[in-house]
Amino acid sequence: MTTLGTASASPGEMDIGRLPVGESRDGSEVGLPVAVINGQRDGKTLYIQAVSDGDELNGLGVINRLVPQLDPAEIAGDILIVGIVNYYGFQVAEHRNPIDDTKLNRTYPGNASGTASERISAATFKAVRRSDLVLDLHQGSTSCMIDEVRVRCGRRHRLHRDCLELAKVFGCGYILDRKGPDGQLARVAPDEGIPTIDPELGGAVGWDEASIQKGVKGVFNVLYRYGFLDGDITTATQIRATGFRQYGSPAGGLVNFKFELGDEIRRGETLFEITDPFGTVKREVTAKSDGIFWRHRRLPQVATGEYVCSIGTNLDEY
Ligand SMILES: [Zn+2]
Repeated sequence: MTTLGTASASPGEMDIGRLPVGESRDGSEVGLPVAVINGQRDGKTLYIQAVSDGDELNGLGVINRLVPQLDPAEIAGDILIVGIVNYYGFQVAEHRNPIDDTKLNRTYPGNASGTASERISAATFKAVRRSDLVLDLHQGSTSCMIDEVRVRCGRRHRLHRDCLELAKVFGCGYILDRKGPDGQLARVAPDEGIPTIDPELGGAVGWDEASIQKGVKGVFNVLYRYGFLDGDITTATQIRATGFRQYGSPAGGLVNFKFELGDEIRRGETLFEITDPFGTVKREVTAKSDGIFWRHRRLPQVATGEYVCSIGTNLDEY
């Protein structure tokens, strides 16, 4: 029997249920929606979660498309899925958890008697600890971003090679290999010996079907390569960035980008212009290094110093 919260499945079965994480302000019990898939045959345990940032919905789109395609009779091992981690943020489509104004993906491994976010982290991390591999599905928030996979343990970590291999198998084409901040699941779970990646499936508002389908394919790649499903995949070479340079605006106005996401950029090329409402160019901003046009703000209007775009730098092929 495989159990996660109230979901419980015998070999060859799946079940859905709720993972209790406390009570909301009206006193009702809060449970995250979960699914367990108990494969007919023995094997590894894969843990997948989405929406730990409450406005990042493409990961939920992946789970929503993926689960109906999974047949427990064909699977070896267990798959544990938490569909919506930041329950409170999701209700109002906000990035942070509005109950404690916290970014949930900075609170791992959590605390079962702590804040609302820490309790969610503790409950989900308990499932993480039972797993051999972890996929924490994210996107570039409501900015526009390429599809990429993040390795967050840091290059000197003993699990770095395993995390990087998992990222390559997931296969979005781009990898950001850069140590993450404290409290991030993909940074913390490798300390427990569990290879973990943070696929970042596009960005912007609502469901992006192209990014969702890349995510579904990525999960299937993992299922094949790690023996959950029969079959194999060919891993393609990925472009890896180990640096990430953010650009802010030197002026207020409207941004005109000179590149599209995924474009290669040479040092000194114009990245974007800031114009006034009538199209007059006020300022030009050039690239300080070579790289890939990785992420940019969604709305064209910016104030001085506001975030405009990010370039993945220090590129190699992996
Ligand atoms: Zn995120």
